[in-house]
Amino acid sequence: MVKIEIPPEHPRAESLRIREKLVENFETGAVAIAGLIAHGRGEAFDYLIGEKTTEPALKAIRAAAAALLTAKNPVISVNGNTAALSAKEIVDLAKIVNAKVEVNLFYRSCERELAIKKLLEDAGAEEILGVGEDASARIPELGSERRRVDPRGILIADVVLVPLEDGDRTEALVKMGKKVIAVDLNPLSRTAQTASITIVDNVVRAMPMLVKTASELKGESLENLQEILSNYNNKEVLAESVNLILQRLSEIAKTGKYIELGGGGDGI
Ligand code: ATP
Ligand code: MG
Repeated sequence: MVKIEIPPEHPRAESLRIREKLVENFETGAVAIAGLIAHGRGEAFDYLIGEKTTEPALKAIRAAAAALLTAKNPVISVNGNTAALSAKEIVDLAKIVNAKVEVNLFYRSCERELAIKKLLEDAGAEEILGVGEDASARIPELGSERRRVDPRGILIADVVLVPLEDGDRTEALVKMGKKVIAVDLNPLSRTAQTASITIVDNVVRAMPMLVKTASELKGESLENLQEILSNYNNKEVLAESVNLILQRLSEIAKTGKYIELGGGGDGI
C-alpha cells in the first residue's frame, strides 16, 4: 500500500489520520471493507454534531460508566473498526470496570478474528473471548454467523458495551434482557434508537472519555452509581442530540457557513 503523507497543517488532518488507520487495518484483515463504508456514514453525522463530544454525549458516557461499574458480568464487544480505532481504550476500560473483552463480528472470518485479537493483545489485552470455536453459543433471532457469541461472555453478560454495532443485533441483545451501551454518531439509527444507553459521539472521542469517567466514578458508592443510572433517560438524551443538530443547522442556515472547522475539504 502507498502510504499517504498527511500534512499536519491540513484542516482535516485528524480525520485523515483516522481514515489511514482504518485503511491500514483493512490491509491487515482486521477491518472489513463494509467497515470503511460504515465509517464514512459516521463521518457525515460527525459534521452535524460539530465534531466534538456534546453535552448529551457526556450524560450518556456518565451513565455508561455507572452501568459498567455496577454490572455483574460486563462485556465489551469488539469489531474491526473499534479495534482499529480504540484498542488501547478497550483494554484500559476493561481493566477499570473489570469487563471481559469479546470479538464479535458482523462479517465473521477466522482471519479477521485473529487480526483483531492481535490488535487487542498488542494493546495489552490478556484474555480475549469469542475467537474461533470459543464463539459456540447462539443469540436468538439472528442469521447464522452473526448470532455466534462466547458462552463465557456476551451470552451471560448483563451489560454489553457495543461501540459500533448493527441495529438488529442491538435489538436482539436488548430482547435477551441485557443493558446495551452503544456508541453511534447517528442518533437516528436503529442501534441508537434501541440501545439502553446511546453515546452519540465518535468512538475516537467517546472511548477515552469513557475511560476517564469510569476511573473517576470508580470510587463512588453503589448507591450513587445507581442514582446516576436511575436519573438517566435515553430517549430524552437522544432528543437532546437531535435538537443540538437542529440548532446547529439553523445557525448555519442563516449564514450558509459551516462554523467550527473553517470548512477545509478532505483533499482526497
Ligand atoms: P443500524 O444498523 O443501527 O440501523 P446502519 O445500518 O445505518 O444503522 P451500520 O452500517 O450498521 O449502520 O453502521 C454504521 C454506523 O456506525 C454509522 O452510521 C455511524 O453512525 C456509526 N459509526 C461509524 N463509524 C463511527 C465512529 N468512528 N464513531 C461512532 N459511530 C460510528
Ligand atoms: Mg446496520
